[in-house]
Amino acid sequence: MRVTFLGTGDVYGAGGGAQSGYLVEAGKKVFLLDSGTAILSKMKKFGLDTGTIDFVAISHLHGDHFGGLPFLLLEYQFNNPRTRPLHVLGPPGIKERVLETYRALFQDLSDMPLPFALDFHEMLPDQPFWHEGIGIQPYLVPHQSNHICLAIRVDADGKSLLYSGDTGWTDDLLRYPQGVDLFICECCYFETVVPYHLNYPTILEHHQQMGCKRLILTHFGREVIARRDEITLELASEGLVVEVD
Ligand SMILES: [Zn+2]
Ligand SMILES: [Zn+2]
Repeated sequence: MRVTFLGTGDVYGAGGGAQSGYLVEAGKKVFLLDSGTAILSKMKKFGLDTGTIDFVAISHLHGDHFGGLPFLLLEYQFNNPRTRPLHVLGPPGIKERVLETYRALFQDLSDMPLPFALDFHEMLPDQPFWHEGIGIQPYLVPHQSNHICLAIRVDADGKSLLYSGDTGWTDDLLRYPQGVDLFICECCYFETVVPYHLNYPTILEHHQQMGCKRLILTHFGREVIARRDEITLELASEGLVVEVD
C-alpha cells in the first residue's frame, strides 16, 4: 500500500497548503481519500495520471474535502476522457451534494451527459464493506453537528490505514487506530481548543495509546505551520510518498 499526500492544508490554505487529498494505491486499485479543490493541480504537479483513479472516498461534506470532485468530473468529461465507471463513496447525502455542487460550478456543462457511469455509495458508521477488493471501515467522528462525519479505515494487501477526516477529540480515537499500520490524523490547531478539530498537545498526550505503527499528522492550520519546529511527531508534506509496510 502506498499513499501520496496531495493536500495537507486546512480550509484556509494556511502556509500555501492545498486542501485535503490523499492518493492511495493498494490491491491493484487507485483511489482518493478526500478530494479538496486543488486535487487536479496537485496530481499533475506530482506526475500522477488522473485516469488511474478507480474510486473516491469522501470523509465528510465540507468543501475542502469534496470540493475537488466537480473538477474531477469535468476532467473526465473533456480533458482526460473516461468511459469506465467512477464510484464515489461518502456519508449520507453525498450524491445530492456532489451533483448540486457540480451544477452550481458548471451549470451549462453539467447538463451534458457524462460519458461514464457515476455511481454513489453511502457509507455509514460501523458498517464495514468491501469495495473493489478493498476493505472499507467507516467510523463516526465528531466534527459537524448536523451531518455524519467519518474516519475511514482501509485494508488491502494485508496492510491497514486509518484516515481521521476532520474530527474533534473523542476517546474513540484511542480505539479506532489500534493495530493499523498507518494513521493519518488531522492536526488543525496548536493552541486553539475546539470540539470539532484536534490540536497538537491533545494528539501528543494520547499518541502512544493509539496503538498505530506509524502516525502522520496533516490538515495544518496557521498555528501548526508557525510552530512546526516545536512538533516532535511526524508531519505530512505535499508530495510525500509513504510505503505502508
Ligand atoms: Zn471539515
Ligand atoms: Zn477540513
